[in-house]
Amino acid sequence: MHEYRDRTSECQRCGIPFIWTAGEQRAAGGIEPTRRLCPACAQLLPAVSRERGLVKWYNLRRGYGFISRSTGEDLFFHRDALPADAGAIEPNLLLEYGIEHTAKGPQANQIRVLT
Ligand SMILES: [Zn+2]
Repeated sequence: MHEYRDRTSECQRCGIPFIWTAGEQRAAGGIEPTRRLCPACAQLLPAVSRERGLVKWYNLRRGYGFISRSTGEDLFFHRDALPADAGAIEPNLLLEYGIEHTAKGPQANQIRVLT
């Protein structure tokens, strides 16, 4: 059985060395993540294959709205993609989400509210 020990890794975004803990290594099955981020950058950046954007508008009655993406495009989202405890969805709320390609075009899924 493999013995995991805390070891130093280097953040791929800011270059700061940080401790990749034995527990995190165990959780990853000993495979070093391709995207190594320090705890600070991990908070700033979305998880792999997810992105962040701001609520542009949301129609509570109709249950859908649009997110402003960093690409400059707007992304559709439906209330089903929001967490049950999301609270009021207001313009400029920061969201993290995955993107799903549907017959009607891309839309956000598995939304997490960050602010
Ligand atoms: Zn960093």
